Amino acid sequence: FRSSLNFSLGRIEVQRVKMLYGYFYGGKHMKIIMLGAPGAGKGTQAKKIAEKYSIPHISTGDIFRANIKNGTELGKKAKTYMDQGLLVPDELVVDLVVDRVKQDDCSNGYVLDGFPRTIPQAEALDKALAAMGEAMDYAINVEVPDENIVRRMSGRRACVDCGATYHIVYAPTKEENICDNCHGELILREDDKPETVQKRLNVYHEQTQPLIDYYTEKNILVEVDGTVDIDEVFAAIVNVLGA
Ligand code: ADP
Ligand code: ADP
Ligand code: ZN
Repeated sequence: FRSSLNFSLGRIEVQRVKMLYGYFYGGKHMKIIMLGAPGAGKGTQAKKIAEKYSIPHISTGDIFRANIKNGTELGKKAKTYMDQGLLVPDELVVDLVVDRVKQDDCSNGYVLDGFPRTIPQAEALDKALAAMGEAMDYAINVEVPDENIVRRMSGRRACVDCGATYHIVYAPTKEENICDNCHGELILREDDKPETVQKRLNVYHEQTQPLIDYYTEKNILVEVDGTVDIDEVFAAIVNVLGA
C-alpha cells in the first residue's frame, strides 16, 4: 500500500498519506532514523524527539560506550574500532538494534541515532522490519558542512556517568564541567579530538553518506539545516513530524 502510493507522490503528500495511514491502522508511524555527519546534532535532536513523542531514543554509540564502561565482550571488541575513528563491523551492531526495536516499548515507534551507518546495515534493518510487516517512516538528514564539524566536536563534552552531551559554547552546563542531569564529570571524548574527527568525517563520506540516496529512493528522506540553533533545527523537524 505505502510504497506504491509513495512512489508517485511528492513529499507533502507522503506525509499526509502517512498521517492518515497511522490514524486508520493504529499508528505505528514514528519509526525515525537520524542521519548526518558525526557532530551534526543527531543525538541532540534525537533526545528532543524522543521526549516530545514519548518514544525510545536508541543510540548505538551510547550502547557501545555503556558496554565499554561495563567491560563487556562487546565493549572490548567495539572499543578497538571506535578509538581509531572506524566503524564497528556490521555484524556486531545489526542484531543488537534489530533485537532492541522488537521490544515492547518500541511499539509506537522509536528514534534510531547512529544506526544504520552503512548500506548493509540499512538493508538488514529493512529486511528485519519487512519480516514483521513494518517499514521505517522517516530518515531525517541533519545537514552540517565539514567546516563546522571540527569546531563543534572540539567543544562537545560528554558526561562520564549518564552520557548526556553538552557544548562549551552552544549548549553549556549550569556549572562548568558538571553534568546538569547527574552531577557527573564531563570529558572530551577520545574520538572527538581533531585528528580522529577528520578520520571519522572521511568514514562518514565513504560509508554513511550513501544512505542519503538510499532513503531518498525509499521516499522517506527529510532534509533539515543543521547549522542553525538547536531549537530552530528541532522546530523544522516538528514541522515535518507533526506537533
Ligand atoms: P551527533 O550525535 O550528530 O554526533 P551531537 O548531538 O552530539 O551530534 O552534537 C555535537 C555537538 O554539537 C554537541 O556538543 C552539541 O551540544 C552541539 N550541537 C548540537 N546541535 C547544535 C546546533 N544546532 N548548533 C550548535 N551546536 C550544536
Ligand atoms: P557520533 O554521533 O559523534 O558520530 P556515535 O556516538 O554515534 O558518534 O558513534 C561513536 C562510534 O561508535 C563511531 O565512530 C563508531 O565507531 C561506533 N558506532 C556507533 N554506531 C555504529 C554503527 N551503526 N555501525 C558501526 N559503528 C558504530
Ligand atoms: Zn550525567
